[in-house]
Amino acid sequence: MARQDMKDSKKKKNCSLCGDKIESIDYKDAAKLKRYLTEAGKIIPRRITGNCAKHQRMIVRAIKRAREAAIISYVFD
Ligand SMILES: [Zn+2]
Repeated sequence: MARQDMKDSKKKKNCSLCGDKIESIDYKDAAKLKRYLTEAGKIIPRRITGNCAKHQRMIVRAIKRAREAAIISYVFD
């Protein structure tokens, strides 16, 4: 593997939702939820998004609810 340590990248709390002081996530807000989905429609793990556990859980819940409500699809082609 490459030896490049990403010293410049901020590894600290990078939760954009905490930054925006978001207390709840609307499952009907598909545009927002899709920011946390891969192109394949999978939920991006928080180690990549930098979200905190609290908000990641909110995202997962909202995405699952949105899927049930057919607001977002399970798989993007
Ligand atoms: Zn957060």
